[in-house]
Amino acid sequence: MAIRSQEISDILKREIESYEPDVEELNYGTVIQVGDGIATIYGLKQARSGELLSFPNNKMGMVMNLEEDTIGCVVMGSDLDIKEGDRVESTGRIVEVPVGEEMIGRVVNALGEAIDGGPAIASKRKRTVEFTAPTVPERQPVHEPLQTGLKAIDALIPIGRGQRELIIGDRQTGKTAIAVDAIINQTDGDVVCVYVAVGQKTNNVAAVVDMLKKHDAMKHTVVVAANANEPPSLLYLAPYTGCAIAEDLMYSGKHVLIVYDDLTKHAKAYREISLLLRRPPGREAYPGDVFFLHSRLLERAAKLSKEKGGGSMTALPIIETQLGDVSAYIPTNVISITDGQIYLDTDLFYQGIRPAVDVGLSVSRVGGAAQIKAMKQVAGPLRLDLAQYRNLAAYTKLSADELDEASRKQLARGERITNVLKQPQFAPVTVEEQVASIWAATNGHIDSFPAHQAQRFEAGFLAMLKEKFPQVFTMLRDKKAVTDDVKAALETAVEEFKKAFRATAG
Ligand code: ATP
Ligand code: MG
Repeated sequence: MAIRSQEISDILKREIESYEPDVEELNYGTVIQVGDGIATIYGLKQARSGELLSFPNNKMGMVMNLEEDTIGCVVMGSDLDIKEGDRVESTGRIVEVPVGEEMIGRVVNALGEAIDGGPAIASKRKRTVEFTAPTVPERQPVHEPLQTGLKAIDALIPIGRGQRELIIGDRQTGKTAIAVDAIINQTDGDVVCVYVAVGQKTNNVAAVVDMLKKHDAMKHTVVVAANANEPPSLLYLAPYTGCAIAEDLMYSGKHVLIVYDDLTKHAKAYREISLLLRRPPGREAYPGDVFFLHSRLLERAAKLSKEKGGGSMTALPIIETQLGDVSAYIPTNVISITDGQIYLDTDLFYQGIRPAVDVGLSVSRVGGAAQIKAMKQVAGPLRLDLAQYRNLAAYTKLSADELDEASRKQLARGERITNVLKQPQFAPVTVEEQVASIWAATNGHIDSFPAHQAQRFEAGFLAMLKEKFPQVFTMLRDKKAVTDDVKAALETAVEEFKKAFRATAG
Protein backbone atom coordinates (compact mmCIF):
# COMPACT_ATOMS: atom_id res chain seq x y z
CA MET A 1 0.00 0.00 0.00
CA ALA A 2 2.25 2.71 -1.18
CA ILE A 3 1.15 6.31 -1.39
CA ARG A 4 1.91 7.75 -4.69
CA SER A 5 4.27 10.65 -4.84
CA GLN A 6 1.61 12.77 -6.52
CA GLU A 7 -0.56 12.38 -3.43
CA ILE A 8 2.19 13.43 -1.09
CA SER A 9 2.86 16.60 -2.96
CA ASP A 10 -0.89 17.36 -3.08
CA ILE A 11 -1.17 17.00 0.66
CA LEU A 12 1.83 19.21 1.21
CA LYS A 13 0.49 21.87 -1.13
CA ARG A 14 -2.86 21.87 0.65
CA GLU A 15 -1.19 22.17 4.01
CA ILE A 16 0.95 25.05 2.87
CA GLU A 17 -1.93 26.93 1.32
CA SER A 18 -4.12 26.58 4.38
CA TYR A 19 -1.33 27.54 6.79
CA GLU A 20 -2.27 30.46 8.97
CA PRO A 21 0.41 31.67 11.28
CA ASP A 22 -0.67 32.35 14.83
CA VAL A 23 0.40 35.95 15.15
CA GLU A 24 1.05 36.92 18.70
CA GLU A 25 2.78 40.08 19.91
CA LEU A 26 5.40 38.80 22.23
CA ASN A 27 6.94 41.11 24.75
CA TYR A 28 10.45 40.37 23.71
CA GLY A 29 12.76 41.32 20.96
CA THR A 30 16.09 40.44 19.44
CA VAL A 31 19.24 42.47 19.38
CA ILE A 32 20.13 43.17 15.77
CA GLN A 33 23.02 45.53 16.39
CA VAL A 34 25.03 46.59 19.40
CA GLY A 35 27.96 48.93 19.93
CA ASP A 36 29.01 52.18 21.62
CA GLY A 37 26.51 51.56 24.40
CA ILE A 38 23.56 51.53 21.99
CA ALA A 39 21.52 48.45 21.08
CA THR A 40 19.07 48.26 18.19
CA ILE A 41 16.31 45.78 18.86
CA TYR A 42 13.80 44.14 16.58
CA GLY A 43 10.42 43.34 18.08
CA LEU A 44 9.08 44.66 21.38
CA LYS A 45 6.19 46.38 19.66
CA GLN A 46 4.69 47.62 22.92
CA ALA A 47 7.78 49.22 24.37
CA ARG A 48 7.40 52.73 25.75
CA SER A 49 9.92 55.51 25.72
CA GLY A 50 12.01 55.43 28.89
CA GLU A 51 11.09 51.80 29.60
CA LEU A 52 13.56 49.49 31.23
CA LEU A 53 14.60 46.48 29.13
CA SER A 54 16.29 43.40 30.42
CA PHE A 55 19.19 41.81 28.51
CA PRO A 56 20.90 38.51 29.32
CA ASN A 57 23.52 38.60 32.12
CA ASN A 58 21.42 41.01 34.22
CA LYS A 59 22.19 43.90 31.90
CA MET A 60 19.62 46.67 31.67
CA GLY A 61 18.77 49.13 28.95
CA MET A 62 16.52 52.12 28.54
CA VAL A 63 14.32 52.72 25.47
CA MET A 64 15.22 55.99 23.76
CA ASN A 65 14.06 55.69 20.14
CA LEU A 66 10.79 54.17 18.99
CA GLU A 67 10.91 53.42 15.28
CA GLU A 68 8.59 51.49 13.03
CA ASP A 69 10.32 48.11 13.20
CA THR A 70 13.10 48.65 15.67
CA ILE A 71 13.87 50.22 18.99
CA GLY A 72 16.97 52.22 19.91
CA CYS A 73 18.05 51.57 23.45
CA VAL A 74 20.93 52.74 25.63
CA VAL A 75 22.66 50.05 27.61
CA MET A 76 23.25 50.83 31.28
CA GLY A 77 26.85 49.98 31.87
CA SER A 78 29.15 48.08 29.53
CA ASP A 79 27.69 46.56 26.36
CA LEU A 80 30.49 44.00 25.98
CA ASP A 81 28.38 41.02 27.14
CA ILE A 82 25.58 41.79 24.72
CA LYS A 83 25.65 40.08 21.32
CA GLU A 84 23.59 40.19 18.18
CA GLY A 85 20.69 37.77 18.42
CA ASP A 86 20.37 38.10 22.20
CA ARG A 87 16.85 38.01 23.51
CA VAL A 88 15.61 41.23 25.16
CA GLU A 89 12.64 41.33 27.46
CA SER A 90 10.43 44.21 28.41
CA THR A 91 10.07 44.81 32.13
CA GLY A 92 6.99 47.00 31.79
CA ARG A 93 8.59 49.50 34.14
CA ILE A 94 9.91 52.98 33.50
CA VAL A 95 13.46 53.37 34.84
CA GLU A 96 13.28 53.78 38.60
CA VAL A 97 15.75 54.17 41.42
CA PRO A 98 15.65 53.59 45.18
CA VAL A 99 14.69 56.67 47.18
CA GLY A 100 14.02 57.57 50.79
CA GLU A 101 15.88 58.62 53.91
CA GLU A 102 18.10 55.53 53.65
CA MET A 103 19.91 57.27 50.80
CA ILE A 104 21.14 60.10 53.04
CA GLY A 105 24.83 59.83 53.84
CA ARG A 106 25.50 57.51 50.88
CA VAL A 107 27.39 57.73 47.61
CA VAL A 108 25.49 56.02 44.79
CA ASN A 109 25.82 55.55 41.03
CA ALA A 110 23.30 56.66 38.43
CA LEU A 111 21.19 53.56 39.14
CA GLY A 112 21.02 54.35 42.85
CA GLU A 113 23.38 51.50 43.84
CA ALA A 114 25.85 52.12 46.64
CA ILE A 115 29.42 52.72 45.46
CA ASP A 116 30.86 53.90 48.76
CA GLY A 117 31.93 50.46 49.91
CA GLY A 118 29.13 50.39 52.49
CA PRO A 119 26.29 47.86 52.71
CA ALA A 120 23.65 47.70 49.98
CA ILE A 121 21.00 50.36 50.43
CA ALA A 122 18.00 49.01 52.27
CA SER A 123 15.51 51.37 50.73
CA LYS A 124 11.97 50.08 50.49
CA ARG A 125 10.68 52.64 48.03
CA LYS A 126 11.48 53.28 44.40
CA ARG A 127 10.63 56.22 42.23
CA THR A 128 10.70 56.69 38.46
CA VAL A 129 13.58 58.88 37.36
CA GLU A 130 11.26 60.98 35.20
CA PHE A 131 8.26 62.63 36.81
CA THR A 132 6.00 65.53 35.91
CA ALA A 133 6.90 68.77 37.64
CA PRO A 134 4.47 70.17 40.24
CA THR A 135 1.73 72.27 38.64
CA VAL A 136 1.21 75.94 39.48
CA PRO A 137 -1.57 75.35 42.06
CA GLU A 138 0.68 72.82 43.76
CA ARG A 139 3.34 75.47 44.31
CA GLN A 140 3.68 78.66 46.30
CA PRO A 141 5.97 81.62 45.84
CA VAL A 142 9.54 81.23 47.06
CA HIS A 143 9.81 83.07 50.36
CA GLU A 144 12.34 81.42 52.70
CA PRO A 145 16.08 82.00 52.39
CA LEU A 146 18.46 79.21 51.55
CA GLN A 147 21.63 80.47 53.23
CA THR A 148 24.81 79.52 51.38
CA GLY A 149 27.03 81.00 54.08
CA LEU A 150 28.84 82.99 51.38
CA LYS A 151 28.59 86.72 51.98
CA ALA A 152 28.75 87.74 48.32
CA ILE A 153 25.84 85.45 47.49
CA ASP A 154 23.57 85.73 50.53
CA ALA A 155 23.81 89.52 50.50
CA LEU A 156 23.74 90.29 46.78
CA ILE A 157 22.32 87.27 44.94
CA PRO A 158 20.11 85.70 47.60
CA ILE A 159 18.72 82.25 46.91
CA GLY A 160 15.30 81.20 48.14
CA ARG A 161 14.09 77.70 48.92
CA GLY A 162 12.57 76.28 45.76
CA GLN A 163 14.55 78.53 43.46
CA ARG A 164 16.78 77.47 40.55
CA GLU A 165 20.00 79.44 40.53
CA LEU A 166 22.64 78.74 37.90
CA ILE A 167 26.35 78.78 38.76
CA ILE A 168 28.17 79.63 35.56
CA GLY A 169 31.81 80.28 34.73
CA ASP A 170 34.91 79.03 32.94
CA ARG A 171 36.83 76.02 34.17
CA GLN A 172 38.63 76.38 37.51
CA THR A 173 36.80 79.46 38.70
CA GLY A 174 35.42 77.97 41.90
CA LYS A 175 32.02 76.72 40.69
CA THR A 176 32.15 73.46 42.61
CA ALA A 177 33.58 75.30 45.62
CA ILE A 178 30.45 77.48 45.90
CA ALA A 179 28.14 74.47 45.72
CA VAL A 180 30.18 72.53 48.28
CA ASP A 181 30.24 75.50 50.65
CA ALA A 182 26.47 75.83 50.32
CA ILE A 183 26.13 72.14 51.26
CA ILE A 184 28.51 72.49 54.20
CA ASN A 185 26.53 75.49 55.43
CA GLN A 186 23.45 73.26 55.86
CA THR A 187 25.18 71.26 58.61
CA ASP A 188 22.92 71.24 61.70
CA GLY A 189 20.17 72.85 59.64
CA ASP A 190 16.94 71.49 58.20
CA VAL A 191 18.08 71.15 54.58
CA VAL A 192 19.01 67.81 53.01
CA CYS A 193 21.46 68.03 50.09
CA VAL A 194 21.95 66.00 46.93
CA TYR A 195 25.19 66.46 45.01
CA VAL A 196 25.07 65.04 41.48
CA ALA A 197 28.48 64.69 39.80
CA VAL A 198 28.24 64.25 36.03
CA GLY A 199 31.23 63.40 33.85
CA GLN A 200 33.89 64.47 36.35
CA LYS A 201 37.16 62.75 37.11
CA THR A 202 36.77 60.08 39.78
CA ASN A 203 39.37 61.68 42.04
CA ASN A 204 37.63 65.08 41.91
CA VAL A 205 34.41 63.49 43.10
CA ALA A 206 36.29 61.58 45.78
CA ALA A 207 37.84 64.86 46.93
CA VAL A 208 34.40 66.48 47.22
CA VAL A 209 33.10 63.51 49.24
CA ASP A 210 36.18 63.72 51.50
CA MET A 211 35.62 67.42 52.09
CA LEU A 212 31.96 66.85 52.88
CA LYS A 213 32.94 64.14 55.36
CA LYS A 214 35.62 66.29 56.91
CA HIS A 215 33.12 69.10 57.52
CA ASP A 216 30.53 66.72 58.87
CA ALA A 217 28.26 67.39 55.92
CA MET A 218 27.82 63.84 54.57
CA LYS A 219 25.27 63.10 57.28
CA HIS A 220 22.75 65.29 55.49
CA THR A 221 23.92 64.64 51.93
CA VAL A 222 23.43 62.10 49.13
CA VAL A 223 26.08 61.98 46.40
CA VAL A 224 25.08 60.62 42.98
CA ALA A 225 28.09 60.09 40.74
CA ALA A 226 28.41 59.19 37.06
CA ASN A 227 32.05 59.82 36.32
CA ALA A 228 33.87 60.55 33.07
CA ASN A 229 34.93 56.91 32.65
CA GLU A 230 31.34 55.66 32.71
CA PRO A 231 29.15 55.18 29.62
CA PRO A 232 27.13 58.21 28.44
CA SER A 233 23.86 56.46 29.30
CA LEU A 234 24.72 56.73 32.99
CA LEU A 235 25.87 60.34 32.65
CA TYR A 236 22.56 61.08 30.99
CA LEU A 237 20.63 59.37 33.75
CA ALA A 238 22.45 60.71 36.83
CA PRO A 239 20.74 64.14 37.13
CA TYR A 240 17.30 62.51 36.86
CA THR A 241 18.31 59.97 39.48
CA GLY A 242 19.43 62.74 41.84
CA CYS A 243 16.25 64.64 41.09
CA ALA A 244 14.08 61.62 41.90
CA ILE A 245 15.84 61.21 45.26
CA ALA A 246 15.44 64.93 46.01
CA GLU A 247 11.83 64.95 44.84
CA ASP A 248 10.88 62.10 47.14
CA LEU A 249 12.29 64.03 50.10
CA MET A 250 10.55 67.22 48.96
CA TYR A 251 7.16 65.48 48.76
CA SER A 252 7.71 64.16 52.28
CA GLY A 253 7.81 67.79 53.45
CA LYS A 254 11.57 68.30 53.63
CA HIS A 255 13.73 71.09 52.26
CA VAL A 256 16.25 69.85 49.73
CA LEU A 257 19.19 71.48 47.96
CA ILE A 258 20.31 69.73 44.78
CA VAL A 259 23.51 70.54 42.85
CA TYR A 260 24.03 69.37 39.25
CA ASP A 261 27.79 69.50 38.62
CA ASP A 262 27.69 70.02 35.70
CA LEU A 263 25.00 70.22 33.02
CA THR A 264 27.49 71.03 30.24
CA LYS A 265 28.84 67.51 30.52
CA HIS A 266 25.29 66.19 30.80
CA ALA A 267 24.38 67.85 27.49
CA LYS A 268 27.51 66.41 25.88
CA ALA A 269 26.61 62.89 27.02
CA TYR A 270 23.13 63.35 25.59
CA ARG A 271 24.60 64.62 22.32
CA GLU A 272 26.77 61.52 22.11
CA ILE A 273 23.81 59.21 22.69
CA SER A 274 21.64 61.09 20.20
CA LEU A 275 24.24 61.00 17.46
CA LEU A 276 24.75 57.27 18.00
CA LEU A 277 20.97 56.81 17.81
CA ARG A 278 21.15 58.71 14.50
CA ARG A 279 18.88 61.50 15.63
CA PRO A 280 19.29 64.53 13.40
CA PRO A 281 21.93 66.92 14.77
CA GLY A 282 21.06 70.60 15.11
CA ARG A 283 22.96 73.61 16.41
CA GLU A 284 26.44 72.67 17.71
CA ALA A 285 25.46 69.09 16.74
CA TYR A 286 23.08 68.87 19.73
CA PRO A 287 19.74 67.17 19.02
CA GLY A 288 16.72 69.43 18.71
CA ASP A 289 15.30 68.51 22.09
CA VAL A 290 18.36 69.39 24.16
CA PHE A 291 16.43 72.30 25.71
CA PHE A 292 13.81 69.86 26.94
CA LEU A 293 16.59 67.74 28.45
CA HIS A 294 17.32 70.48 30.99
CA SER A 295 13.95 72.19 31.26
CA ARG A 296 12.14 69.03 32.34
CA LEU A 297 14.86 68.47 34.93
CA LEU A 298 14.91 71.96 36.40
CA GLU A 299 11.12 72.42 36.30
CA ARG A 300 10.95 69.81 39.03
CA ALA A 301 12.57 72.19 41.53
CA ALA A 302 9.76 73.85 43.47
CA LYS A 303 8.42 75.31 46.66
CA LEU A 304 5.35 73.19 47.32
CA SER A 305 2.06 74.57 48.60
CA LYS A 306 0.91 73.99 52.17
CA GLU A 307 -1.54 71.30 51.00
CA LYS A 308 1.36 69.45 49.40
CA GLY A 309 3.37 69.61 52.60
CA GLY A 310 5.34 72.80 52.02
CA GLY A 311 8.60 71.02 51.13
CA SER A 312 11.02 72.54 48.68
CA MET A 313 13.70 71.63 46.18
CA THR A 314 16.30 74.28 45.45
CA ALA A 315 18.42 73.55 42.39
CA LEU A 316 21.93 74.81 41.74
CA PRO A 317 22.82 73.68 38.22
CA ILE A 318 26.40 74.35 37.14
CA ILE A 319 27.45 75.26 33.60
CA GLU A 320 31.01 75.55 32.34
CA THR A 321 31.66 78.24 29.73
CA GLN A 322 34.51 78.61 27.24
CA LEU A 323 36.35 81.94 27.57
CA GLY A 324 33.40 83.48 29.38
CA ASP A 325 31.07 82.94 26.43
CA VAL A 326 27.61 82.86 27.99
CA SER A 327 25.96 83.15 24.58
CA ALA A 328 26.80 79.60 23.48
CA TYR A 329 23.91 77.18 22.99
CA ILE A 330 23.78 75.25 26.27
CA PRO A 331 24.56 78.28 28.54
CA THR A 332 21.77 80.38 26.99
CA ASN A 333 19.35 77.48 27.32
CA VAL A 334 20.04 76.97 31.00
CA ILE A 335 20.15 80.73 31.72
CA SER A 336 16.64 81.00 30.32
CA ILE A 337 15.36 78.06 32.37
CA THR A 338 16.74 79.23 35.74
CA ASP A 339 15.68 82.09 38.03
CA GLY A 340 19.04 83.80 37.95
CA GLN A 341 22.74 83.14 37.70
CA ILE A 342 25.90 83.46 39.74
CA TYR A 343 28.50 84.47 37.20
CA LEU A 344 32.11 83.59 38.08
CA ASP A 345 34.89 85.45 36.38
CA THR A 346 38.40 84.14 35.66
CA ASP A 347 40.03 87.59 35.98
CA LEU A 348 38.48 88.19 39.38
CA PHE A 349 39.59 84.72 40.44
CA TYR A 350 43.21 85.45 39.53
CA GLN A 351 43.07 88.90 41.14
CA GLY A 352 42.38 87.00 44.34
CA ILE A 353 38.75 88.05 44.60
CA ARG A 354 37.36 84.71 45.72
CA PRO A 355 34.61 83.61 45.45
CA ALA A 356 35.04 85.21 42.01
CA VAL A 357 31.43 86.37 41.76
CA ASP A 358 30.88 89.13 39.21
CA VAL A 359 28.23 91.03 41.15
CA GLY A 360 27.42 93.17 38.11
CA LEU A 361 26.45 90.25 35.87
CA SER A 362 24.93 88.03 38.54
CA VAL A 363 21.25 88.20 39.42
CA SER A 364 18.66 86.41 41.45
CA ARG A 365 15.20 86.99 40.08
CA VAL A 366 13.21 85.76 43.05
CA GLY A 367 15.67 85.68 45.93
CA GLY A 368 15.08 89.21 47.26
CA ALA A 369 11.76 88.05 48.67
CA ALA A 370 13.69 85.40 50.56
CA GLN A 371 16.06 87.59 52.57
CA ILE A 372 15.51 88.29 56.23
CA LYS A 373 14.77 91.94 56.91
CA ALA A 374 18.15 92.58 58.55
CA MET A 375 19.97 91.41 55.43
CA LYS A 376 17.75 93.53 53.20
CA GLN A 377 18.53 96.55 55.36
CA VAL A 378 22.29 96.22 54.99
CA ALA A 379 22.33 94.81 51.44
CA GLY A 380 20.67 97.90 49.95
CA PRO A 381 23.57 100.29 50.69
CA LEU A 382 26.02 97.49 49.81
CA ARG A 383 24.63 97.13 46.33
CA LEU A 384 24.72 100.89 45.78
CA ASP A 385 28.30 101.27 47.06
CA LEU A 386 29.48 98.45 44.83
CA ALA A 387 27.73 99.74 41.71
CA GLN A 388 29.27 103.20 42.19
CA TYR A 389 32.65 101.62 42.84
CA ARG A 390 32.50 99.59 39.63
CA ASN A 391 31.68 102.66 37.54
CA LEU A 392 34.46 104.68 39.12
CA ALA A 393 37.01 101.88 38.91
CA ALA A 394 36.31 101.50 35.19
CA TYR A 395 36.63 105.25 34.73
CA THR A 396 39.87 105.64 36.68
CA LYS A 397 41.46 102.91 34.58
CA LEU A 398 40.98 105.18 31.56
CA SER A 399 41.85 108.52 33.07
CA ALA A 400 44.75 109.43 35.29
CA ASP A 401 43.18 112.75 36.27
CA GLU A 402 43.06 113.77 39.90
CA LEU A 403 39.86 112.51 41.45
CA ASP A 404 37.68 114.71 43.58
CA GLU A 405 37.25 114.00 47.27
CA ALA A 406 33.85 112.28 46.93
CA SER A 407 35.06 109.92 44.22
CA ARG A 408 38.17 109.03 46.18
CA LYS A 409 35.98 108.13 49.14
CA GLN A 410 33.76 105.97 46.92
CA LEU A 411 36.79 104.13 45.59
CA ALA A 412 38.17 103.54 49.08
CA ARG A 413 34.80 102.24 50.29
CA GLY A 414 34.47 99.93 47.28
CA GLU A 415 37.90 98.42 47.81
CA ARG A 416 37.18 97.67 51.44
CA ILE A 417 33.77 96.19 50.72
CA THR A 418 35.26 94.01 47.98
CA ASN A 419 37.78 92.71 50.49
CA VAL A 420 35.13 92.04 53.12
CA LEU A 421 33.18 89.98 50.57
CA LYS A 422 36.20 87.73 49.97
CA GLN A 423 35.89 84.42 51.73
CA PRO A 424 38.04 81.32 51.96
CA GLN A 425 36.61 77.90 51.11
CA PHE A 426 34.91 75.77 53.78
CA ALA A 427 34.32 78.77 56.05
CA PRO A 428 30.62 79.59 55.85
CA VAL A 429 29.39 82.57 57.88
CA THR A 430 26.01 82.78 59.61
CA VAL A 431 23.55 85.38 58.38
CA GLU A 432 23.81 87.32 61.68
CA GLU A 433 27.58 87.58 61.30
CA GLN A 434 27.21 88.60 57.67
CA VAL A 435 24.86 91.40 58.68
CA ALA A 436 27.33 92.70 61.27
CA SER A 437 30.29 92.64 58.82
CA ILE A 438 28.38 94.32 56.02
CA TRP A 439 26.97 96.89 58.42
CA ALA A 440 30.49 97.85 59.50
CA ALA A 441 31.79 98.07 55.94
CA THR A 442 28.91 100.03 54.41
CA ASN A 443 28.82 102.48 57.30
CA GLY A 444 32.43 103.42 56.59
CA HIS A 445 33.96 102.01 59.74
CA ILE A 446 36.80 100.37 57.81
CA ASP A 447 37.49 103.40 55.58
CA SER A 448 40.13 104.86 57.89
CA PHE A 449 42.23 101.67 57.75
CA PRO A 450 44.27 100.40 54.78
CA ALA A 451 42.22 98.30 52.34
CA HIS A 452 44.38 95.22 52.80
CA GLN A 453 43.48 95.17 56.51
CA ALA A 454 39.74 94.94 55.78
CA GLN A 455 39.55 91.17 56.18
CA ARG A 456 41.52 91.23 59.43
CA PHE A 457 39.30 94.04 60.69
CA GLU A 458 36.21 92.02 59.90
CA ALA A 459 37.46 88.87 61.60
CA GLY A 460 38.54 90.80 64.69
CA PHE A 461 35.28 92.70 64.89
CA LEU A 462 33.20 89.50 64.69
CA ALA A 463 35.35 87.81 67.32
CA MET A 464 34.95 90.78 69.63
CA LEU A 465 31.16 90.89 69.09
CA LYS A 466 30.93 87.21 69.96
CA GLU A 467 32.92 87.70 73.11
CA LYS A 468 31.65 91.00 74.45
CA PHE A 469 28.39 91.77 72.64
CA PRO A 470 26.75 88.39 72.00
CA GLN A 471 23.36 90.10 72.46
CA VAL A 472 23.81 91.60 68.96
CA PHE A 473 23.55 88.13 67.46
CA THR A 474 20.70 86.99 69.71
CA MET A 475 18.73 90.15 68.90
CA LEU A 476 19.35 89.67 65.17
CA ARG A 477 18.25 86.04 65.43
CA ASP A 478 15.06 86.92 67.32
CA LYS A 479 13.97 90.08 65.54
CA LYS A 480 15.54 89.29 62.14
CA ALA A 481 15.99 93.04 61.69
CA VAL A 482 18.55 95.72 62.45
CA THR A 483 16.48 97.43 65.14
CA ASP A 484 17.53 100.59 67.01
CA ASP A 485 18.82 98.40 69.85
CA VAL A 486 20.96 96.38 67.47
CA LYS A 487 22.24 99.53 65.83
CA ALA A 488 23.14 101.09 69.19
CA ALA A 489 24.98 97.95 70.30
CA LEU A 490 26.84 97.75 66.98
CA GLU A 491 27.85 101.45 67.25
CA THR A 492 29.25 101.02 70.75
CA ALA A 493 31.04 97.83 69.77
CA VAL A 494 32.59 99.19 66.60
CA GLU A 495 33.93 102.33 68.29
CA GLU A 496 35.54 100.23 70.97
CA PHE A 497 36.94 97.83 68.40
CA LYS A 498 38.36 100.59 66.18
CA LYS A 499 40.39 101.92 69.10
CA ALA A 500 41.83 98.50 69.81
CA PHE A 501 42.42 97.78 66.11
CA ARG A 502 44.21 101.08 65.57
CA ALA A 503 46.51 100.23 68.46
CA THR A 504 47.41 96.78 67.08
CA ALA A 505 47.71 98.04 63.49
CA GLY A 506 50.24 100.58 64.75
P1 ATP B 1 36.28 72.81 37.21
O1 ATP B 1 35.97 73.63 36.02
O2 ATP B 1 37.56 72.07 37.09
O3 ATP B 1 35.13 71.98 37.68
P2 ATP B 1 35.55 74.68 39.26
O4 ATP B 1 35.10 75.90 38.53
O5 ATP B 1 34.52 73.78 39.81
O6 ATP B 1 36.59 73.88 38.38
P3 ATP B 1 36.81 74.54 41.83
O7 ATP B 1 37.30 73.17 41.61
O8 ATP B 1 35.68 74.74 42.76
O9 ATP B 1 36.48 75.21 40.42
O10 ATP B 1 37.95 75.50 42.31
C1 ATP B 1 39.14 75.67 41.59
C2 ATP B 1 40.28 75.91 42.54
O11 ATP B 1 40.11 77.14 43.22
C3 ATP B 1 40.37 74.85 43.61
O12 ATP B 1 41.71 74.52 43.81
C4 ATP B 1 39.80 75.51 44.83
O13 ATP B 1 40.39 75.02 46.01
C5 ATP B 1 40.14 76.96 44.61
N1 ATP B 1 39.13 77.85 45.23
C6 ATP B 1 37.82 77.87 44.96
N2 ATP B 1 37.17 78.78 45.71
C7 ATP B 1 38.09 79.35 46.50
C8 ATP B 1 38.04 80.38 47.52
N3 ATP B 1 36.91 80.97 47.87
N4 ATP B 1 39.19 80.70 48.11
C9 ATP B 1 40.34 80.10 47.76
N5 ATP B 1 40.45 79.14 46.83
C10 ATP B 1 39.36 78.76 46.19
MG1 MG C 1 33.99 71.79 39.35
